[in-house]
Amino acid sequence: MILKAGRYKSFVIRRKILCCLLDGYGDVRYGELGRKTPLEYAETPFFDALLAGGTCGFMEPVGLGREVPITDASTMTFSFLGYDARKFPHGRGIIEAIGEGMRVRDGDFAARCNFATVSQDGTITDLRAGRIRDTKELETALNGMPFPVPFEFRATAGHRGIAVFRSGKNRRFSEDITSVDPHVVGRKIMRAKPLKPSAKKTADLVNLFVERSREALAASPFNKKRKARGLPPANALLPRGFSAKVPRLEPFPEKYGVRACGVTGVAINKGICKLLGIPIKRVDEDVGDNAKEMKMKLTPTLEALRNYAFVFLHFKTIDMAGHDGDLWRKVSEIERTDAFLGGLPLDGAVVAVGADHCTPCKIGGHSTDAIPYLFGTPDKGARGGRKFGDSECARGKRIKQYDFVGEVLKAASRR
Ligand SMILES: [Zn+2]
Repeated sequence: MILKAGRYKSFVIRRKILCCLLDGYGDVRYGELGRKTPLEYAETPFFDALLAGGTCGFMEPVGLGREVPITDASTMTFSFLGYDARKFPHGRGIIEAIGEGMRVRDGDFAARCNFATVSQDGTITDLRAGRIRDTKELETALNGMPFPVPFEFRATAGHRGIAVFRSGKNRRFSEDITSVDPHVVGRKIMRAKPLKPSAKKTADLVNLFVERSREALAASPFNKKRKARGLPPANALLPRGFSAKVPRLEPFPEKYGVRACGVTGVAINKGICKLLGIPIKRVDEDVGDNAKEMKMKLTPTLEALRNYAFVFLHFKTIDMAGHDGDLWRKVSEIERTDAFLGGLPLDGAVVAVGADHCTPCKIGGHSTDAIPYLFGTPDKGARGGRKFGDSECARGKRIKQYDFVGEVLKAASRR
């Protein structure tokens, strides 16, 4: 494998690295799975071959054991890539807006938004409007609605979108407002409240945006058609991840001494890659057909592996099964991912497997539990070897999540 040797601290990087983020793959043990976790239950011949010649353990996310858990994807993905996000602003709205290529200036106010379904009185009946897709028509409707502050709304993948409000001469925004999205079906959309007096205008703006967008969405022919077909209308927006600061960070290639490339379609990851100076090969994740998604990932992954020393490859479907609380789908998505990786021509590369966070089916959301990790060079000749899973990880080394990349680079320096 031809590789222009990079350097991380005193280590010369000799092998390519494929660093895989299996979003939300960690979980707890279930009776239905014979007291195993989905990872341990799944048949994973590729991971087991990696383990035969490699190392596994648990990585501790920055939110571990905290009273106020940190489980947001931006903190944990930065941490997975070796940046301790407690040390810099990392509001999700701004990062996703950057990821989608929207114009964002310091001081602009951005929010990640989900399309949702609500009843007349604002009670949420579906947090993702039936996992709606192709919402460009709704984007047009929202951008055309009357609003006192200039803004841009962008519909992104699936039920997701981003709103950026423009700062101006006498218009300053504050992140210090309370949440609007209760994250629970059966509860009403909340009103944003200022956490300090100077944030009142921003809270009012967010509340007005939620109201006006409900009117605009209710009037949209797109939603009328959905209702006629018996589908939940996307008649509300749930903004979150309020942010007004753009972080300035040491680029990944400088910090770690390797040319890196990201293969991902998720807005937050695209934004993080852009902020870290990691070019992206874009794929459509969350297409709803996971076999198709894996197929679409193959060519960009192979291209990235040919041209870069460090490839960051993101898989979303396991996390989605976790959010839906679908244990068996989670098992099969882990198996599908293992088979995909096992089919790649890896030619001596170090393959690293880990995640931003666990998404236990039991809670249908992110947790701050320690996350299984694994890295090594596949040893396909190994027989009767160990099974990759939580039991093996419990015997391995415990590391901080933000030290994972460093450990993997050290492994890639071995001959
Ligand atoms: Zn998730």
